[in-house]
Amino acid sequence: MVKKVLKFGGTSVGTTERIQHVANIIKKERSLGNQVIAVVSAMAGKTNELVKLSNEISDEFDKREFDVLLSSGEQVTCALLSGALNNLKVKARSWLSWQIPILTDGGHSNARIINIHVEKINKYLNEDEVVIIPGFQGISKNGDITTIGRGGSDATAVAIAKIFNADSCEIYTDVDGVYSTDPNKIPVAKKINKISYDEMLELSSLGAKVMQSSAVQTALMYDIPLEVKSTFSNRKGTKIFSQENIDYTKSVTGVAYSKDDAKITIIGVNDKPGVAANIFEPLSKSQINVDMVIQNISSDQKTTDITFTVKRNDILKTKEILKNNRQIAYKKIIHNDKVAKISIVGAGMVSTPGVTYKMFRALSDENINILAISTSEIKLSVIIEEDMTLKAIKKLHTIFDLD
Ligand code: ASP
Ligand code: MG
Repeated sequence: MVKKVLKFGGTSVGTTERIQHVANIIKKERSLGNQVIAVVSAMAGKTNELVKLSNEISDEFDKREFDVLLSSGEQVTCALLSGALNNLKVKARSWLSWQIPILTDGGHSNARIINIHVEKINKYLNEDEVVIIPGFQGISKNGDITTIGRGGSDATAVAIAKIFNADSCEIYTDVDGVYSTDPNKIPVAKKINKISYDEMLELSSLGAKVMQSSAVQTALMYDIPLEVKSTFSNRKGTKIFSQENIDYTKSVTGVAYSKDDAKITIIGVNDKPGVAANIFEPLSKSQINVDMVIQNISSDQKTTDITFTVKRNDILKTKEILKNNRQIAYKKIIHNDKVAKISIVGAGMVSTPGVTYKMFRALSDENINILAISTSEIKLSVIIEEDMTLKAIKKLHTIFDLD
């Protein structure tokens, strides 16, 4: 008996017609004899709507009640999907996280799934029932409803696949799979048939929004193969699994970009031991994530410039912390928030010499100035002026044979 976890995202269940369509997909799986655990998101836009309602009540809406509120979107989808299946004469029941239970720790809004009880659910699966479970929600040790972070239904699906020892975990969404770059911006973007966890992780944390990156991280950790596919077409999706099973003919698998970065330069800081630590320690204490760091050579041996990038919405906080930092002296601070981060990702990069130079040359051919650089084994990112984004992606996509 094959046990499948099928996860349906917000747009896949965005209307009652779509929920009926999803019910038909599940019905087909059942007619093939497969056991199905369906994990569902809230209907598209619902969670944002709920956030808005809480804001209308208060800027400091109670955390516990915020989770009760936000998790309700998934509850609606569960009931509607179960009803749609029953209407198709398919046995199905919804189970909310506290009924199963799905246990979490780590407080509210950003809780982590630590365990899921399987006995009851397995019993229903063995009785030929489809089990429908809300993504995104859990229950704390104290019995409070929790949520596990925006986009968290992916993480729920992966955790369920792991704990129930499922044969497959299929992420149904509104695109056919993972693309070599954003298909809405670059029409020649191609669907990737197979990709490793590591590459997927880089792509999803670099702005390719197909899957939540913490869910991919869990899949990598426990080696749970995933498949991303479209709810609206029968085309084959993208398989995500461990690197050994992939044979790389190309050095670069995909080009990602994000427009939520900002660059800060501190001009004229002292060039002596401890300065960098004094700059970055207070930032990290305030949960500000610093991405790239560059320190210029000091020309006078006394002072230097340090440039780094942070998320765009952290820029004001970052400048404030720097200004209040009595442990550093500098001439001035400048920033640029009209920047974008462009990254090439590929497990094949490790074994292909010259990828770095090829990327830099391509950008220079297009007259694009590189403002900062960072690298990892399978990724190369640069910061450029935001209005050059499209030009850069197009060029890189072409020179790395992805068109
Ligand atoms: N409904 C939640 C959100 O919008 C969780 C999810 O869709 O994955 O963030
Ligand atoms: Mg989602």
